[in-house]
Amino acid sequence: MEKAAISSYKALVARYGTPISDKLFHELRDYAMKRGIKLSGFKDFVGDIQTIKIVIDDICQIAEDFPRILDEKVGIWLELDYNLGTDFATTEAGHIIHLNGGYFSNIEVLEEEYDSAVAEGRFVSDTNWRSISRHEVGHVVAYAYSIDPLEVAKEIMKTGSSVQVRYRIGKELSLYAAEYEDGREFISESFSGYYSGTDNAIATEFVKRCLEKMNERQVNRMKSYSEAMYWRTNEKWFVINIEKDRFELTKAAPPRAIESFRMYLRQNDLPDNPIPINYGEDVMV
Ligand SMILES: [Zn+2]
Repeated sequence: MEKAAISSYKALVARYGTPISDKLFHELRDYAMKRGIKLSGFKDFVGDIQTIKIVIDDICQIAEDFPRILDEKVGIWLELDYNLGTDFATTEAGHIIHLNGGYFSNIEVLEEEYDSAVAEGRFVSDTNWRSISRHEVGHVVAYAYSIDPLEVAKEIMKTGSSVQVRYRIGKELSLYAAEYEDGREFISESFSGYYSGTDNAIATEFVKRCLEKMNERQVNRMKSYSEAMYWRTNEKWFVINIEKDRFELTKAAPPRAIESFRMYLRQNDLPDNPIPINYGEDVMV
């Protein structure tokens, strides 16, 4: 095991160069950690840490719009990977972004390869190498927010036809976007185009629709949260039972307050009280 590890380290040095110093590695790791991003494999990084700092900043820019991608539950991992073959990057398990060590260690080669792919129409026009991480973050957003890209595309194009959607996406967004018929690359290529500041109409509409969807869901969640406290909006609707250390509803509570109180109990994993409780005169409030 150890021998293999040493020889693979030697092979790494021979092929790509000497990895960054501990000092630079710690600087990079701290930079990522402060922004809620975990790193893996970067002790073997042989390039300029500024490149990875830019990747981190670009992820954070998208997280301002889609904060859940940096939540503890999702939490983006950046992993340096020298075994990605010709892929610039991939996303594993919804939130682990692998960056190709061979490319990201050598920005000139990365730029050249990416630009030639754009010239062939494979990636969104007017994007550059920084779109690679934006593309991958699109996959993380789909995962974190359970977005079905094919559905979003049908909505913005106002059609129920999958083949029409795939045709327009390939023509107007990028060829790569249309490579998989399930639409998984629609969202990533849209994020690539939108967050790189291109004026691609599909990318813009796609991301705006994702933002709308997210906000709609947040409004729903906020509504259910405040609804759980509706019963507290009128002092006559509830009492404090000090002995049992709990709130209890009075007969004055209307049905909506009763429903709301049940929601509150459920949220706090409390048993459903007999509602409303019939109180005598001696109730302490
Ligand atoms: Zn992708």
